[in-house]
Amino acid sequence: MTLANGRQIIAIPGPSVMPERVLQAMHRPAPNIYAGALVDMTHSIVPDLLTVAGSSSHVAMYIANGHGAWEAALSNTLSRGDKVLVLATGRFAHGWADMAGFMGVDCEIIDFGKRAPIDLNRVEDHLRADTGHTYKAVLTVQVDTSTSVKSDIAGVRAALDAAGHPAMLFCDCIACLGCDEFLMDAWGVDVMVAGCQKGLMTPPGMSFVFFNDKADRARDTAGNLSHYWDWRPRMKPELFYQFFDGTAPTHHLYGLREALDMIVHEEGLAAVYARHEKLAHAIWAAFETWGQAGPVELNVENPAHRSHAVTSVRIGAPHGTALRDWVEQKAGITLGIGLGMAEPGDPAWHGFFRVGHMGHVNAHMVLGTLTSIEAALTALGVEFAPGGAAAAAKVVSQA
Ligand SMILES: *Cc1c(COP(=O)(O)O)cnc(C)c1O
Repeated sequence: MTLANGRQIIAIPGPSVMPERVLQAMHRPAPNIYAGALVDMTHSIVPDLLTVAGSSSHVAMYIANGHGAWEAALSNTLSRGDKVLVLATGRFAHGWADMAGFMGVDCEIIDFGKRAPIDLNRVEDHLRADTGHTYKAVLTVQVDTSTSVKSDIAGVRAALDAAGHPAMLFCDCIACLGCDEFLMDAWGVDVMVAGCQKGLMTPPGMSFVFFNDKADRARDTAGNLSHYWDWRPRMKPELFYQFFDGTAPTHHLYGLREALDMIVHEEGLAAVYARHEKLAHAIWAAFETWGQAGPVELNVENPAHRSHAVTSVRIGAPHGTALRDWVEQKAGITLGIGLGMAEPGDPAWHGFFRVGHMGHVNAHMVLGTLTSIEAALTALGVEFAPGGAAAAAKVVSQA
């Protein structure tokens, strides 16, 4: 039998659960794009996005997914033949580097593996050794969604400053903006990219490049700049229809406006972060308890290096795929595949899964997900220590 009929939950690391309010805000006829409510409303999105990013500078909006924001960031700042340093803690930094390579940028990658954050001492040494200051930028990913490793981005800025290196600091916050705290100005980040479909709770289709004046000066000499990605005209989004090379993403803007109301003006960013943190602790408590016997193991050992938005789990093949299938078919919950931990086709690929807990997620969703995972472990005969769901409930009880 199946017990999946009822409200299905998606617990993958993006797209995340869309609030009904966001969906309802999008359910309307096409608006006038030249004047009136849409234009006024779009204007109001900018300060709220900057608040979420901890930035007092600029944001450009694109009708694109996160990959589009990656390319926009590179296009506005770099030229063919420029060199950048990429700090990889999972698959996404490699993806960004691949894109930069395609644009003729020379990428030097330091790979910290799949279970550890950026090693700041190693980065500082590496930057000091670049006495000719050949790197124009350092590319980082705050939370790599494949590994769920979170790195210390302020620490990368400190390493740049300690080495006296003038490179710009780029950060991909696509996985975790609005979930794990990020302070663009305070941490000295020059360019940050994000999408709308993870912590910002809006259907996939918009992405953002945040940039400061230093990065904007690089735009003046960027040989890779193309008209569509140019961030300058996009600094005035109320003029979408004039400058955006086409029609505004009308319905996404209404959805995003609603989501930002919920995050910035109702719950408040501090409370949003605290909720994500508490729920992440509940998830970790469950997996740590189960893992006291048998193969279940959190991918990231040190809690300080774990994201509050996504959790990567190691369970050994074939249990990862079997568990995902079980909870989907029996309990109505879709978990994330293990990404980048083993090659597709390798039997080991089936030994991982991920839990997305970003955005519109509350205690009962997390507790339901965890209890369903415990049921799956039991049903599949995977060895585990009992008490994981109770350990999570205890964390929630201390809210
Ligand atoms: C999701 C994600 C991306 C890619 O975003 P798309 O919208 O799928 O293009 C890039 N980087 C990180 C860290 C992500 O989590």
